[in-house]
Amino acid sequence: MPRLAVLGHPVGHSRSPAMHNAALAELGMAGEWSYAAIDVAPDAFEARVREMLQEGFAGANVTVPHKSAALGVADELSETAREIGAANTLVLAGGEIRADNTDAAGLLAALPASAEGKRALVLGAGGAARAIVWALVREGAEVAVWNRTELRSQHLCEELGGDPVGEPDQASYELIVNSTTVGLAGEDTFGELPLRPDGFSAEQTVVDMVYGDAPTALLRAAEAAGATVVDGIEVLVRQGALSLELWTGCEAPVEAMRAAARR
Ligand code: NAP
Repeated sequence: MPRLAVLGHPVGHSRSPAMHNAALAELGMAGEWSYAAIDVAPDAFEARVREMLQEGFAGANVTVPHKSAALGVADELSETAREIGAANTLVLAGGEIRADNTDAAGLLAALPASAEGKRALVLGAGGAARAIVWALVREGAEVAVWNRTELRSQHLCEELGGDPVGEPDQASYELIVNSTTVGLAGEDTFGELPLRPDGFSAEQTVVDMVYGDAPTALLRAAEAAGATVVDGIEVLVRQGALSLELWTGCEAPVEAMRAAARR
């Protein structure tokens, strides 16, 4: 009985179990495979992953705050995980732990068109931003990075590419990605971010990594201007689909995963 899980702290709010169990059911594998949420504190993370190797787990997703620690516990790292400096996926096989990162490819898969050659603005310089900037630079986008704490965006760009920007010209970007946490806790989105609600256009694609039960203020404003919008749930679904493919070798049923994640 191969088992799968998401490891986080806290993790009770995660949509991954519903999404992956729906995928396993769609693939006719639900009797055999299962996916659970496991809350593990940072100081217990490494020991828990090693136990999972003995307990018949085939893999895990890793979320806040364990994405960096997931690199340290691995016997092998994918190039993507090593370069980004974080893993969101562990593959447990043959007594070994392999760490990978599907957040980067998940973002690209969620976009309506290739980012190659596009002028892109990434807001944020935390863990999510690292995967996004890495993905967009690799894809051939021209990436500008704004962060509230400017020193962090400078360091991120030195490491991963892209150019730090102090005062972005909102209208000049074809792609805007919010990878800050702004929008989660009822903050004043347009007070905290260097964007104006009336500054979007129909030529733009706007992605908000933040997600909840309702569209964020950022996506509502972008959509009102006719922009193409992509929410954080779509990115979650796409990274999950890629993780599932790494564990099972089966093509992920993206529609079933999307429906479960949005339910
Ligand atoms: P993180 O590492 O804690 O980074 C937080 C970022 O938000 C930093 O750049 C921080 O700027 C910025 N920030 C926080 N409060 C701010 C404010 N009031 N004004 C402006 N900037 C502010 O978090 P993370 O792991 O990157 O996650 C970021 C968001 O993406 C979270 O909401 C998370 O749920 C979401 N996410 C979604 C997915 C998905 O699949 N949809 C995947 C990963 C993450 P400073 O450096 O100045 O503090």
